[in-house]
Amino acid sequence: MSRCMVLNASYEFLTIEERWIDALGLVLAGKAVPLEEYPDVVRSQHCSFRLPAVVMMRYHVKTQRRRHIFHAPTRKAVFIRDNFECQYCGVRVSMATGTRDHVLPRSRGGPDTLTNVVTACRSCNVRKDDRTPEEVGMSLRNRPRALTEDEKIQCLLKLVRAKERNTWLACLRRLGLGLWAA
Ligand SMILES: [Zn+2]
Repeated sequence: MSRCMVLNASYEFLTIEERWIDALGLVLAGKAVPLEEYPDVVRSQHCSFRLPAVVMMRYHVKTQRRRHIFHAPTRKAVFIRDNFECQYCGVRVSMATGTRDHVLPRSRGGPDTLTNVVTACRSCNVRKDDRTPEEVGMSLRNRPRALTEDEKIQCLLKLVRAKERNTWLACLRRLGLGLWAA
């Protein structure tokens, strides 16, 4: 069954509800409002319900979750954005074999941000060393950038089913929302 994205009362991302019955429970208890539903219907003896895909809490839930998880250039975020490909030679990397490369090296004042960090295989990282791509004659396949909403969702979940992703993205687009926009 499909998971449900839960937004806080402020429309910020809160959590993913793994079980549809828990998400439906929030709605039926009046704690959350459905913003988007799946076409699937569950029936009890007297009623039928559409399964919620995205709900918003009616009250603000305090959370320790740090907003910057989507802005920090973690290995996971950078690799997902770069499709697990070295941005210099194009070779595929894994979470184990990939490295992060600061395009403008940190020793030269390059920031530790998504717009300055790319996926690199070990040999390209060693070859580039503490220099800029121009100095080594290497070029970037893509310019490093912030994450898209789709990539943020991929960072949140190990496996994102297409149906969930499409429904969530359609809802975010319809409402003009970003997951934890900066
Ligand atoms: Zn490489």
